[in-house]
Amino acid sequence: MDYDVVIIGAGPAGSTTGMYVAHEGFNVLVIDKKIEPGQPVQCAEYIPALLLREIQIPSDAFAHEIKGLKVYFPDKGVYEFSAPGYILNRSLFDKYLAIKAIQEGATLWLKTKFTGIENNRICLLKDGRTIRIATKILVGADGPNSKVSRIINGDYKDYIVAYQQELPLTKEMAYTEVYFDPKFFGGYAWLFPKKETANVGIGIKAGYKANIKDLHREFVQKLVAEKKVIDIPVRITTGLIPAGGPVAKTVYRSMLLVGDAAGQTHPVTGAGIPQAIICGKFAARAIISALKNGDLNLLYDYEVNWHNLYLSELVRALNKRKKMEENWYRLNEILKECWVSFFEYYE
Ligand SMILES: Cc1cc2nc3c(=O)[nH]c(=O)nc-3n(C[C@H](O)[C@H](O)[C@H](O)COP(=O)(O)OP(=O)(O)OC[C@H]3O[C@@H](n4cnc5c(N)ncnc54)[C@H](O)[C@@H]3O)c2cc1C
Repeated sequence: MDYDVVIIGAGPAGSTTGMYVAHEGFNVLVIDKKIEPGQPVQCAEYIPALLLREIQIPSDAFAHEIKGLKVYFPDKGVYEFSAPGYILNRSLFDKYLAIKAIQEGATLWLKTKFTGIENNRICLLKDGRTIRIATKILVGADGPNSKVSRIINGDYKDYIVAYQQELPLTKEMAYTEVYFDPKFFGGYAWLFPKKETANVGIGIKAGYKANIKDLHREFVQKLVAEKKVIDIPVRITTGLIPAGGPVAKTVYRSMLLVGDAAGQTHPVTGAGIPQAIICGKFAARAIISALKNGDLNLLYDYEVNWHNLYLSELVRALNKRKKMEENWYRLNEILKECWVSFFEYYE
């Protein structure tokens, strides 16, 4: 069976693209190597409230409402910001988006791995066999370690590595918290409260010689001493966050990249869910137009549109990240210029 569109990855980027393209009656296949979309969760699960203008989310995918953000500086200064949003049940959220794509007419194959392209055919490993299928358009929504992006752009180099535990809270919290410390080179630690628990994590620059689990342990002990959490994890997560900004080409011939695969993740905060969804919609619009008009050049509209919305902010964030890394020894001094919540970041 041949397809109009094959999408690698049933995360927010892939399922959003799939749902909108399938809605127009095109033949869409979404594949994912996972057993279940969204599992295991590799996310701190925060979304800004404004994202609800872009996507409907069922009530059970919301875990907790967030009022704001507290930023902890190395010198113990604490700054509080309004940042209305939600902590999701990310596994339910991803599964919901995949279901929506199916309800619009897409086909979903789980436990199916994209392995490459041979003779213009997409190679998928499914049930121990390699299947070769033809498609008019291939979408790489295959996350931070994207194989599709590697075909188009070569290796992506700049990552944050993350380690996170979900820990019981001692009492409910309405603020997310981020902590900066000279020991967390190129990153930060976070406490993102759900109702009964919190995602407590650390991200540091990939390649930085430190034991992230030891740093996490120390951070959790500090939170335990402050009586915020109980040191018994109910979930443990690791993950990679692209921190090098957008890849060079997000459209190449009949291929598009969306979400983390495209490097659309924010290089300073590591947030990528909103971009995955909004750029997934842009990708779908360009794909629909290319298929309706039989003109693959129209796929390049996707790059123009998502660049118009996000490129300048991602480039600014990338520059701020560079500045932060180069001046890490005086982190406390430069943090206001380098963290998105402060006016100084935008000057
Ligand atoms: C620890 C951590 C915390 C984070 N916290 C937040 C947060 O609080 N808020 C926020 O906005 N963002 C956060 N992010 C970033 C956010 O999770 C990503 O930006 C978002 O998931 C991007 O969506 P995506 O669809 O592009 O990629 P993904 O969600 O990574 O989906 C990609 C999918 O592709 C599949 N796949 C990959 N390779 C293949 C292959 N070869 N064959 C088949 N399938 C494949 C994967 O199984 C996966 O399901 C966090 C990331 C991490 C690691």
